[in-house]
Amino acid sequence: MLRCPVCGREYRDMKRMRCGCGEPLEFKLFKGEPYIGKNVWERFWDFWPIEPDLDLSLGEGDTPLIKSRKLGRELGLELYFKNETANPTWSFKDRGTFLGITAALKFGYKAVGTVSTGNMAASVAAYASRAGLKAKILVSESASDEKLKAVSVYGASVVRVKGDYGRLYFESLRLGERLGIYFINSDNPFRIEGYKGIAFEIAEELTPDCILIPTSSGGLFRGIAKGFIELKESGLIDELPMLVAVQAEGCSPICRAFKEGKEKIERFENPKTVAKAIANPYPPSGNALLKLLREFGWKCVAVSDGEILEAQRELSEEGLFVQPASAAGIAALKRLELPEGSKVVSILTGSGLKTLSHAETGKTAECPLESLEKCLGG
Ligand SMILES: *Cc1c(COP(=O)(O)O)cnc(C)c1O
Ligand SMILES: [Zn+2]
Repeated sequence: MLRCPVCGREYRDMKRMRCGCGEPLEFKLFKGEPYIGKNVWERFWDFWPIEPDLDLSLGEGDTPLIKSRKLGRELGLELYFKNETANPTWSFKDRGTFLGITAALKFGYKAVGTVSTGNMAASVAAYASRAGLKAKILVSESASDEKLKAVSVYGASVVRVKGDYGRLYFESLRLGERLGIYFINSDNPFRIEGYKGIAFEIAEELTPDCILIPTSSGGLFRGIAKGFIELKESGLIDELPMLVAVQAEGCSPICRAFKEGKEKIERFENPKTVAKAIANPYPPSGNALLKLLREFGWKCVAVSDGEILEAQRELSEEGLFVQPASAAGIAALKRLELPEGSKVVSILTGSGLKTLSHAETGKTAECPLESLEKCLGG
């Protein structure tokens, strides 16, 4: 059964994605107990809306939780990085895509699609290819060739769409229904369920006080929130951590509406940020997320591009190379003034190799082989 988190209406059709009121549908809360198993799907078997098809798995999830050696000490915090760049297509999107594709196969679809500027496109293309499904990837006119190359490898058909990117999301759902293409967009109900694994894995290792979540459409945040809420309802944790949605100042429709006390988000005009993966100007889960933030007393923080790039550099000092969007959590950390010793987890959402054109090129030295000894010593 699917339910609207904003108006509460319920739907039996599991293929449906949005409520009549326009908001995204989600599954009811699942309760259960953990088991022994070799991956997160098996260990949290009671919590998924569909039986995970492990033949289809590429080993998504079960990513490392890495303790900071430098930044945490400097800030007086117990800081951890949840390294989602270790997923099969180098972002957390794989967790949700895996369940979405499992559902598409079960429903009998021959084709799937997504609306994306990068990471989700690569993820859906990879899993569709593995499942033997056709993939239709709709991207905005401005999508970079660098990102699209990582999609074409998997044989997906990529369509650059001219026109309003916010409207494209809704058009894709409408046409998908007509043409028999199952769209696994940013807040598809199965995708949200897949993201819960991040909360489950964190809770297996520690009891965090605060989780920092780079936020664009709001799908990732809703998934992690639902995961922790289900753990609490199941009696597996005592308290919910404080969740912080982090946006880029140059595109922060959710933080702005939250600050102004609005119930609905408004389109963010002329978005501009280096953090392309969190630059959705009209987030489809924006209103659902506002409701969550208010209900649980959580936070929304917007950070500047300068702070984001500084955080990206600081992460490199910990041996981690993430894309700008993924460094936003660390950028927000400095504004939060958390109590000394707080246990904080920053979600590193995607790999820096996806955005090499943004990466700074360090100094390289040239050296004739004959003088190598001198060059190495100097
Ligand atoms: C998709 C994505 C996000 C944001 O996720 P939403 O579910 O759209 O809020 C953050 N970082 C990276 C690298 C992403 O690919
Ligand atoms: Zn509704």
